[in-house]
Amino acid sequence: MALKLHRRCVSCQRIAQRDEFWRLVLVPIAKDISENELIAPISKPRREKSNQHFQVQLDRGMGRSAYLCKSWECLQIAQKKNRLGRSLRIQIPAEIWEILKSRLPT
Ligand SMILES: [Zn+2]
Repeated sequence: MALKLHRRCVSCQRIAQRDEFWRLVLVPIAKDISENELIAPISKPRREKSNQHFQVQLDRGMGRSAYLCKSWECLQIAQKKNRLGRSLRIQIPAEIWEILKSRLPT
């Protein structure tokens, strides 16, 4: 497997193939897009120098990405230590955490 297909967990620093992780993507959004059109919950849009707005999406989208093990431990670390927020330089909305928790195996 090519190295470029490997990603690193923001919490435990484990390196593995991309599909072993949850992926959070920082994607630019147009100002006029309605929330109903979005495929995942959005954060409060972040304003960049370029006047661009961003949102956090799960799984899909092109842009700065952060990866997280599909585990309770890494989810806890990421939330408590704001690992995802720092990596993406955005505040992770509560909805995102709820969705990730709901995806954990029971
Ligand atoms: Zn991890």
